[in-house]
Amino acid sequence: MPSRYSSNQKKKNPYIKWSLIIVPILLVIGAASWYFLQTQNSASNVEDVAKNEVQTSQKPAEEQPKEEKATEETNEESNEIEKTEETKAPEKTEEPKQQETSKEPKETDPPKEQAKEEDAAAASKPKKQETAKDASSYSDTIGLPGKPTVINGVLLANKQHPLPETYAPGESQEARSAFEEMRQAALKKSIDLVAFSTYRDFARQKELYKGYVAKDGQKAADRYSARPGYSEHQTGLAFDIGEAGQEQHWASASFGETKGGKWLAENAHNYGFILRYPKGSESITGYMHESWHYRYVGKKAATEIYKKGITLEQYLGV
Ligand SMILES: [Zn+2]
Repeated sequence: MPSRYSSNQKKKNPYIKWSLIIVPILLVIGAASWYFLQTQNSASNVEDVAKNEVQTSQKPAEEQPKEEKATEETNEESNEIEKTEETKAPEKTEEPKQQETSKEPKETDPPKEQAKEEDAAAASKPKKQETAKDASSYSDTIGLPGKPTVINGVLLANKQHPLPETYAPGESQEARSAFEEMRQAALKKSIDLVAFSTYRDFARQKELYKGYVAKDGQKAADRYSARPGYSEHQTGLAFDIGEAGQEQHWASASFGETKGGKWLAENAHNYGFILRYPKGSESITGYMHESWHYRYVGKKAATEIYKKGITLEQYLGV
């Protein structure tokens, strides 16, 4: 028995010895491999993070312009647009490729539509004419008002006095009949007047402006196009006038040098129209000279404005 016992003891001892050696080794190997795997994972995580960071730093530059346009569809004020751009920028990186492909058609579509709808000559020429006035004249601190500005019964719309988004009177019937009367008088002098652009509602101006911003950027667009709510055409009282068969002079400074342009400048007040943006009055009206843009104010006001050689702003004392 003792021998058995001792032999068992002898047999057990080696197991204990081996297990004392092997178990720590296995533990060390296990710990080492765990540590290795951990470091591998974290290394690849670091790579992923690095990749993401690279993507995020690259993407906004490509996508911001598109986001800009998208936000403009829902925002009237340029201030709001700029703010939303900034706040939305970080979100854009999440689905880069889908966004790019789905947005590109939208981006290119508006300018095409706009080009189709554009009144033939009126479209491109005002851009050149209106350059330099807008940017400095807009006040970014005021939003669109709840009511239009009416002084002594005369409606005023300029860059300091915008119109409500909901102001949509359509073309003024009174102004239209005055124009028809004026047209008949001009016909007697063989001048065939055409009002090639009159009422434009808020949505139309917004669409135009959005198209210009998409094409040239907001800064450039502000130099040649009125922001929605700021165009006098939204009053229904502004008539862009040219001569039939003389489309090359429509919305062009050269119209002022034509027989029709000269006749209008001298006679429009008799029918209640004024040359709204006379030469040298940019600082008052906010617009460069537009020989084709007439505004209906009624005979009394028109005659006084014409005789005094003043602008509507000066007549209204603003
Ligand atoms: Zn006009």
